[in-house]
Amino acid sequence: MTAPSTSAIVWFRRDLRIDDHAALARATRDHAPVHAVFVLDPAVLDAQPRGAGRRVAFLLAALRSLDDALRAAGAGLHVLRGAPEHVLPRFARTCGAVAVHANRDHEPAAIERDARVRRALEAEGIAFSTAKDHVIAGHDEVLTRAGGPYAVFTPYRTAWLRYVDEFGLPTHDPVPARLAPAPPLVLPDVRELGFDDAFPRSLDDLRIAPSPDGARRLLEDFAQRIDRYHERRDFPAVKGPSYLSPHLRFGTVSIRTAARLARSRDSAGAQTWLSELAWRDFYAMLLAQHPRVVDHSFRPEYDAVEWDDSPLADDRFAAWREGRTGFPLVDAGMRQLRLTGYMHNRLRMVVASFLTKDLHVDWRRGADHFAAELLDHDLASNNGGWQWAASTGADAQPYFRIFNPTTQSQRFDPDGKFIRRYVPELARVPDRHVHAPWTMPATDQSAAGCVIGRDYPDPIVRHDVERKITLARYGKVKST
Ligand code: FAD
Repeated sequence: MTAPSTSAIVWFRRDLRIDDHAALARATRDHAPVHAVFVLDPAVLDAQPRGAGRRVAFLLAALRSLDDALRAAGAGLHVLRGAPEHVLPRFARTCGAVAVHANRDHEPAAIERDARVRRALEAEGIAFSTAKDHVIAGHDEVLTRAGGPYAVFTPYRTAWLRYVDEFGLPTHDPVPARLAPAPPLVLPDVRELGFDDAFPRSLDDLRIAPSPDGARRLLEDFAQRIDRYHERRDFPAVKGPSYLSPHLRFGTVSIRTAARLARSRDSAGAQTWLSELAWRDFYAMLLAQHPRVVDHSFRPEYDAVEWDDSPLADDRFAAWREGRTGFPLVDAGMRQLRLTGYMHNRLRMVVASFLTKDLHVDWRRGADHFAAELLDHDLASNNGGWQWAASTGADAQPYFRIFNPTTQSQRFDPDGKFIRRYVPELARVPDRHVHAPWTMPATDQSAAGCVIGRDYPDPIVRHDVERKITLARYGKVKST
């Protein structure tokens, strides 16, 4: 193989690794030397809520680890600061690059940014090309027989699994020897960028290391548990899921590596987990095909649902955010989010249902709060999850199926272990009362050191009452 002699850039975005990286593999196949670049874009940073410090901290740590990996290959990372449509053409000129390679991003803002970058580069005769890397099946690769996008998950998954069988899970190996060296890495810290340094020390009992090494350790750990995933994934007190979501969000592991693990096992657990990866592609596809879902219901009739934006609803929204609704499982989930930047999937469904159907607060407000707090925030999955819980989305929970926060608690945290971990006020409350502590007799309250209304809140609403209101509000929209 003769080495190519034209220089190029690989622009890293949400793919902070060098293994199994489609754009890097393509760039180093076709070009040499290849300059590795990350752009700290003020427009992206300024759009982040101030509370997103933990994501910025993850990003900066992952960039350091990317630079380490590049240096081990004799190369290094260039970090540019500014609007990509300005700094990338300028950098390309200084290094004589004829092409910029990146992995495709389906978020509407990223699509617009990439269009601006493409115009700026092409104006200077520099090619811009993007590769599929973030998802297994692209948004137009798994379609119905009529050639349109799916709106129901089960047939999508069947077609998606067929796609995986047909095309496999290719590995995109770069040629590290073609990467160019770079001056020593200089990165700002989280505070300099205007964020709180709130990186969570631990993710439940697992330390989450923001690097491909951290992802590999999680994957190895999960490989021991994947066969029982289907039985354990719904119980937040149990180490059931993989905890890989922040890594999939930042690309410190490739989605194909994750899927290869699932496909290497012939078990019900592995099949269920592969289905979850299909949900991730399903939501990415929906966002790419229907970008209006960012702030509209997938099913337009539900845009007419009447939400509560009264001052009382604002107070209740604050209680929800702070984990003081008086419903223990809801509060435990919201406090887990606040403390760690992660929330177990079962709890995401419970708290989202509670906000929309017990407090009647617009799902968009809940999604914005998650966007601010989640380490793994991903626009497509977050929007899909919220619209599922609010019954406004594609293949969503029917509006009349409303989670009862107390029975969810009894079912999925039967001995209150998770609740007690995040709501220490309830640590000594007997098992029989831990799901509905307001039912506890006064003597038991004193004995448990938890007087309701003083040490732990009275429930802020009555589920049976709010349930009827929701049925009426959604029912009105359905019948018009
Ligand atoms: P595992 O159970 O180990 O699953 C493995 C991977 O599969 C996940 O990392 C994720 O990439 C994917 N996955 C699993 N479940 C789903 C799902 N329901 N939808 C889409 N992908 C899924 N996931 C995010 O990655 N980012 C978000 O911002 C996000 N917001 C959500 C908001 C709501 C209201 C709900 C109900 C779900 C949301 N999810 C989101 C999906 C899911 O809760 C998380 O992916 C999961 O909890 C992450 O933990 P894990 O990696 O241990 O999951």
